[in-house]
Amino acid sequence: MKECGICNDKTTIYKCSQCSIEFCDKCGDPVEMLCEYCLEEDEI
Ligand SMILES: [Zn+2]
Ligand SMILES: [Zn+2]
Repeated sequence: MKECGICNDKTTIYKCSQCSIEFCDKCGDPVEMLCEYCLEEDEI
């Protein structure tokens, strides 16, 4: 099992389609495949 690159939780990990960071479902959007950092940038 992998670690989230943002909160370091060991859980189901997704990979951001923009910055390639590995994130968990708390730290991004698995549907959009974006981490929370890239989600914030998109909302501008
Ligand atoms: Zn996380
Ligand atoms: Zn990202």
